[in-house]
Amino acid sequence: MSSIDTLVNTTIRSDVRAIHGYHVADASGYIKLDAMENPYHLPHHLREELARRLVDVTLNRYPVASYATIKQSVCARLGVPAGYDVMLGNGSDELISILCMGCALQDRRAVVLAPTPSFVMYQRSAQFAGMDYVGVPLKADLTLDMPAMLAAIKQHKPSLVFLSYPNNPTGNLFAADDIVAIIKALDGFGLAVVDEAYEPFAQQTFMHRLPEFNNLVVMRTVSKLGLAGIRLGYMSAAPQLLAEFDKVRPPYNINVLTQAAAEFALDHVEVLNQQATALRAARADLTAALAAMPGVEVFPSAANFILIRVPNSDDAYAKLLSRKVLVKNVGKMHDVLANCLRITVSTPEENSTFLDAFAASLAS
Ligand SMILES: *Cc1c(COP(=O)(O)O)cnc(C)c1O
Repeated sequence: MSSIDTLVNTTIRSDVRAIHGYHVADASGYIKLDAMENPYHLPHHLREELARRLVDVTLNRYPVASYATIKQSVCARLGVPAGYDVMLGNGSDELISILCMGCALQDRRAVVLAPTPSFVMYQRSAQFAGMDYVGVPLKADLTLDMPAMLAAIKQHKPSLVFLSYPNNPTGNLFAADDIVAIIKALDGFGLAVVDEAYEPFAQQTFMHRLPEFNNLVVMRTVSKLGLAGIRLGYMSAAPQLLAEFDKVRPPYNINVLTQAAAEFALDHVEVLNQQATALRAARADLTAALAAMPGVEVFPSAANFILIRVPNSDDAYAKLLSRKVLVKNVGKMHDVLANCLRITVSTPEENSTFLDAFAASLAS
């Protein structure tokens, strides 16, 4: 019998063997400000009601394949325009992967383009689908380099352009006019995917503009709104496009527990919206407190996290960690992020614990 190493080397793609897995830090015992989770639970009485609903879920049957009820609820409550449907994903991560699989060409390598730095899964999903990835660096002020974006679109003719709106990990909203210019530049050969994972905190959207553009896809998730654990993303686009991507989707990708929990949560979406309102207020407080600290540069955020630059992000990260606060050190991710940390906005209590630990870290 040949060795397992030989087996791995002969069967697994070399580009997969060459990369590291998606790293998730072990957060037990830490204040967790690294993953843009909503710190608030559903209120206790709602969780009890949810538990009573889950009793009746038919675990022995496959989900109803049309997902009609939950889709209707998403469309009705989350601003999907009349005449447009949604496709559901096991998180928007799955939708990104489906978009890439659906657009990867057979006769030549299709291109995925995105500004960098942005959400890492765009590049990963493109790679796994066998597509080429073109990253166009943001300007130092973290805005889109429009001449470079338009030139790259002209040169590479990308099938997909991903625009995180607001952008992760920078937190800013790109100019809406720039996004429109990109959508128009792609007309005829490419899709613009506006990823609105942080829409509850930005309150800016392209969803209502779907009828204006055949090549616009608007993608969202309930993860950052407070339901990261149930894994539910959705996207809308022209029905003809959705019908094609739906063929790539695994038939029962949303499980019955997620479906029941999501329907229940959407029936009480005002609770989640109130939590988002509280987090927006906390973001303003945290931004002001950070901006008042000497040596700290704070970038404006429309998301539930804040990007800051410190004199030494490795040092600050390590010192925060030793004080049991976990943030994301993005300082090595890209040149424009040198010495930057990304901090998830949390409850006023956790934010002030972070601020105390951070002040002590800067002083020591
Ligand atoms: C968090 C995030 C996602 C992933 O969302 P899931 O629905 O949890 O898979 C997608 N896009 C961006 C920009 C994100 O930051």
